[in-house]
This record gives sequence, structure tokens and C-alpha cells, in this order.
Amino acid sequence: MGTKGKVIKCKAAIAWEAGKPLCIEEVEVASPKAHEVRVQIIATALCHTDGHPINPKFKEALFPVILGHEGAGIVESVGPGVTSFKPGDKVIPLYMPQCGKCKFCLSPLTNFCTKLSLVKNPIVDQELMEDKTSRFTCKGKPIYHFMGTSTFTQYTVVSDINLAKIDDDANLERVCLLGCGFSTGYGAAINTAKVTPGSTCAIFGLGGVGLSAIMGCKVAGASRIIAIDINSEKFTKAKALGATDCLNPRNLHKPIQEVIIEMTKGGVDFALDCAGGPEAMRAALDCTIAGWGSCTFIGVDSEIRGLTISPVELIMGRTINGTCFGGWKSIDSIPKLVTDYKNKIFDLDILVTHTLPFDKINEAFDLMNQGKSIRIVLTF
Ligand SMILES: [Zn+2]
Ligand SMILES: [Zn+2]
Repeated sequence: MGTKGKVIKCKAAIAWEAGKPLCIEEVEVASPKAHEVRVQIIATALCHTDGHPINPKFKEALFPVILGHEGAGIVESVGPGVTSFKPGDKVIPLYMPQCGKCKFCLSPLTNFCTKLSLVKNPIVDQELMEDKTSRFTCKGKPIYHFMGTSTFTQYTVVSDINLAKIDDDANLERVCLLGCGFSTGYGAAINTAKVTPGSTCAIFGLGGVGLSAIMGCKVAGASRIIAIDINSEKFTKAKALGATDCLNPRNLHKPIQEVIIEMTKGGVDFALDCAGGPEAMRAALDCTIAGWGSCTFIGVDSEIRGLTISPVELIMGRTINGTCFGGWKSIDSIPKLVTDYKNKIFDLDILVTHTLPFDKINEAFDLMNQGKSIRIVLTF
């Protein structure tokens, strides 16, 4: 007896309001409508971005909501008009859509898609399906979707342009990381910064995104990779992945940018900021070499504070980039990254510090917020 065409009752973690733990509740997940797919989530990781909406300082989020955007699962059923997926397919939900038809999708210069608001913060976009309704109900109330994915639930519904089909033998407890953190950091180095062989790089912030950026710099052939974090416990993994120097700004007698400029005789070719605070952004820009230094911003802190830049810094030949989802065209690229993982081009295992049952999601948030984890994978 299948579930196709029926409402599915299952377990989900609901954020009823900011500043409160998530609640594991029974939710009703409606059938997929036109061009939608209902997915059974097998594994989901936590990302700091999932913590932003429930941070009381972040005032843009809508509640109640099912968070989660780093998941992997199996197609349960498809709505009318879906041609690229069938029940049983292994899939990764994508917060970065790829409609394949818009001006951005048709350009090789970007991975943006007009299905994503290009002016709003992506964290507060895609909170409802295309018809402006939700597929989730709990205690009679509609529940908002999150980033077009909502993976903190046993079943979710996503648009077919927010979903990538991957190999049948993919390990879902690992490739779920391709839904955000890994792809963002790795792609920032390869696609956005376009790190070159023999170059010198500085990576600020050694969470899952920063460590993935190190892997990207290494694959791109960088000869010196300087890894920076205020927590020296992160250095073991950074070195294992290819960092040649590790610096803790709290242990230095002068500003980190001055130290890096001295170490590299003028500055690095590429700086990637995966931390997101104004101090790290400033240091990342300052430590790039005049003439050709490139600084890529990846991290965003939940307060979204900015950076003041003097035109002279850019007149002197530095460039600033930003990246969303590592520049990957999502539906095209994620299946290839799954294959690259299988072929051991990069390592996802080293990023997973904890695997916990889904019911322990609040403990997982505590571990993440205390900086005790790199990536925590929750399984159902
Ligand atoms: Zn598009
Ligand atoms: Zn994320």
C-alpha cells in the first residue's frame, strides 16, 4: 500500500518562534502539486544558516517553520509534469534553484536563477511553494518552508527545480553535505576565486565551509594555504586537508593581516573569508596583495554587519568577489560532485564530527553553537 497521492504523517522539527528550542512534532505533509516532488529525507546535516532564523537578533524570519537545507533522501512520489525524477531516485534538495530557462541560468557567468529572489537574503526566500501555499501542516496550522528545502523532517516537498538526482550508490549520510557547506567552500575556491596553481591563499574561519575551501585550494594547486581561526583545535583537520600554515589571531602580537603580509612578502593572491564578521572580512581584504589580490566573501553573520571599503584599496588592483552556493549551477553540478566524492577527489568524512539520531536535533544545535562540531549529520 503506497503513500502516493495521500497526506503523509511523520516526524519533523518545528521552530515555533525565535530563541526557543525546536519541537519534534507530528506533521502532515501534503502530496506534491505540479512540478513538485515529495522526498523522504534519510540524512540531514546542520549548518550555521539554520541557526540564523531562530536567533532573536535576526528579525526577518517567518514562523512557524521547518528549517534544514543540507539533506539527502529518496523520492517518494512526484506531482504532475515532473519528468526528471521517479519514486526511488536518490536526490539532494537544493536551496539554489536552476530553472534552466531564465537569463541567469542561460549565462555561464553565474549560478543564480530568477526563481530565487536576487535582492532578498536567500535565508528568507522560498518560504512557500510556487503557488504561495505550504505543504506542511501541524496542529491545524500551516508551517513555512525554509530555503525551498526544509530537511528537518522525515518527508518534505520541493520544487523539481530545487532537486538534483544523484547516483543510486551514493552514501546519503555523507553527500548530504553537498547541499550547502561543502559545495559552498569548495566552489568558492574553484569557481569564484578561481585559485591558480602555485598561488598563495588565506582562509579565514575553519568550520565546514572553510575546511572545504582548503580542499578547493588544494585541488586547484595552491602551493601555500594559510588557515586562520580563533579556535586552535581546528588546526589539526586544516593541516590534514592541506593547510601549510595555521594562525590564531588571539595568539599574535599584531593584527593578523600584518602577520600574513610579512609571511608572504606583500600579501596573498587569494583570501577567502568563511567567518563572516566585519573583523575577519576586513583582515581578509587587507591581507591580499596589491596589484592582483582577490578577496572572496562567503560567510555571513546573523546580524549581517557590513564592511567599509576605501576606493584606494580597489584602485590598487585588488578585487572583491562574493559567492552563493560556491558558484555551482546546482542541478548540473551536484551529481558530478557526488561522483567526485566517490572517486576520492575530496574528503567529506573528515568534516563529519558527529552522527546523531534526528530526535537529538537540539543537542546538535548546542554542539554547533558551542563550536564543538564541524558537521553533525542527523539520521532518521
Ligand atoms: Zn533560472
Ligand atoms: Zn548552509
